[in-house]
Amino acid sequence: MTRTTPRTSLLASLALLALCVHVGVPLQGQAQTERRVVRIQTLNVYDILYILRGGSNSLAMMRDDGVVLVDSQPAGWTAPLLETIETVTDQPIRTIINTHAHRDHAGGNVALATATDIVAHANARTRMATYAEFAGANAKFLPNRTVTDRLTLFSGPDQVDLHYFGKGHTDGDLVVVFPGKRIAHVGDLVWPKAVPVVDLEAGGSALALPETLARAVAQLTNIARVTTGHDGGPASSSNPNADSATRSPRTLTWAEFQEYADFTRDFVAAAREALAAGKTVDQASATLQLPARYKGYDLSNARATIEAISRELGR
Ligand SMILES: [Zn+2]
Repeated sequence: MTRTTPRTSLLASLALLALCVHVGVPLQGQAQTERRVVRIQTLNVYDILYILRGGSNSLAMMRDDGVVLVDSQPAGWTAPLLETIETVTDQPIRTIINTHAHRDHAGGNVALATATDIVAHANARTRMATYAEFAGANAKFLPNRTVTDRLTLFSGPDQVDLHYFGKGHTDGDLVVVFPGKRIAHVGDLVWPKAVPVVDLEAGGSALALPETLARAVAQLTNIARVTTGHDGGPASSSNPNADSATRSPRTLTWAEFQEYADFTRDFVAAAREALAAGKTVDQASATLQLPARYKGYDLSNARATIEAISRELGR
């Protein structure tokens, strides 16, 4: 049987779907098992586009000819991911779009053998090709289609536009836009209401991030909601609940996305000013002055990002 219409009723789709698939994964040397949960929540766009919250956030578009998966979850999450997707479609995953190279977004590629099209930014592919898990026979799970600036997949209501706006979290972050559904997925370029995470080793740039996000704000049009690679700030001792499965699900409005672009600009400016005044990274992060409109933003990653800014400035 080919079922193209999701099982969920409209009524159910209007409420938060709490379809949970649990697996117990024994951890070496531990009697307890880690409970891995992938939660699915409809985005209510003709009920074919879903956000999947597990080891990071993925999107899944349920097409008649296969599932389009945006980010493949970390290695070890494939079973709960597939079980969750199977609750709404019997189609296999045909297309994977990796927003960037990080393992919590691309590590699951190697277990998704049904995917024939794997798409990522050229810089992300180059980085993934250095990972041990993609060596040898597993090279077939590397992206086989790369983007440098812009690429469109599918047409009509399922159209997907992939945009590269510049360096930020890494040097290969794609923004995945579903124009017919007015959704933009920005991956890890945005950490909702939290200081951005920048991976210099992966080619990221805190100094470039505000410009990258400003380009996205300027060039994207008619977007109603923005989804992100994680639901809150990065994991840290002060932010132990950062993993997506345990955070409250949320998407950003376009206005909140615009505010985040402004936040990164003002954050970087304040950090540069403090460093230019001779402050150390510790002093700058302890005394950072931000406009009142950002009250409530999670600053737990401020030190790490100011350190990245300092390194980029050659201090
Ligand atoms: Zn990342």
